[in-house]
Amino acid sequence: METLIRAKLEQALAGIAAAAREVGRDPAEITLEAATKTQDAATVRAAIAAGVTVCGENRVQELTQKLDQFAYDGARVHFIGHLQTNKINKVVGRVDLIESIGSARLLEGVNDCALRLGRVQDILLEVNIAGEESKSGFAPEELLFAAERAMELPGVRLRGLMAIPPVAQDVGDNRKFFHKIYQFYVDIIQKMGDNKGTISCLSMGMSRDYADAVREGATLVRLGTALFGPRS
Ligand SMILES: *Cc1c(COP(=O)(O)O)cnc(C)c1O
Repeated sequence: METLIRAKLEQALAGIAAAAREVGRDPAEITLEAATKTQDAATVRAAIAAGVTVCGENRVQELTQKLDQFAYDGARVHFIGHLQTNKINKVVGRVDLIESIGSARLLEGVNDCALRLGRVQDILLEVNIAGEESKSGFAPEELLFAAERAMELPGVRLRGLMAIPPVAQDVGDNRKFFHKIYQFYVDIIQKMGDNKGTISCLSMGMSRDYADAVREGATLVRLGTALFGPRS
């Protein structure tokens, strides 16, 4: 299993590097995150042994199970799924980064929880870039206000943005969205006067479209299928 994942990982890393060089970026600026939903602890361990350094988990129950099994040992863990407010306390303080802060209510809830634990939780704000009804995330016009609020809250540290564009029909369809997200990202860094480099993470791009995401400025791409094959 590890050999197979290693081969796919190398292929994906080569794809990331090629896309980065096309636009004059240093491939070292981009981190590959393994989206490990539905993968069991043994598979997660194999991925880490193969060289994966960041795992992204979607569901609280899976996260908790795999944490209890020490499946992520040797890698960082991010939460990338929809987080219900009643499950915040199962995630805060247990992951290195929560990428999916998509509402004011969740932002305040994570802050409160982190303060109770005496922690500072690293977060990304999720942007609903195409205004899809079915998706969570801040609308682009709410983003700046949310970022300002996040900067004020002592229990969270704003590290950047995350987005999941619509399911694309054709390769290349999402590049325009990645471009827009990148512009919001740069805008926020400027407006927040972040000269310490705390806001340095732009999480976008999945198995089908990560090359375009890298071309448009992603620093973190989240790959499931490309590493593990189709999910059953
Ligand atoms: C599943 C998932 C991914 C990875 O999707 P693939 O298309 O399999 O690469 C990335 N991000 C999030 C938020 C996911 O839920």
